[in-house]
Amino acid sequence: MTTKLDQLHAMLDSMDEYERYRLLCMAEIEESRRENGGVPIIECERTESGLAFDCPYCEVRHVHSLPDDAGGHRLAHCKPGSPLHDGGYVLVPIEGTLPRGPQKPRRRGRKAQ
Ligand SMILES: [Zn+2]
Repeated sequence: MTTKLDQLHAMLDSMDEYERYRLLCMAEIEESRRENGGVPIIECERTESGLAFDCPYCEVRHVHSLPDDAGGHRLAHCKPGSPLHDGGYVLVPIEGTLPRGPQKPRRRGRKAQ
């Protein structure tokens, strides 16, 4: 008999490393969303252009421009369909840089959103 857990393992085995990493990033945000009334707390880093984090839903880097680099609640830069699109997120700047999140391969040299 195949259990739900077996199915989950089979699904994870069939995914490549990128998809597994993306799933993990989304699971972390989902947990934060549940714990914080639907608005997740997301760590971001300070860059020359503003507060930045790599969004696993959109697979791009979202940058919230300066001058206010103190963090706090922001309207999402996510595309429609992302679970963060409607409620936004609370950005918490960290010291230093974050590990890179899932990024879609660039096709037409578009800049991060
Ligand atoms: Zn997004």
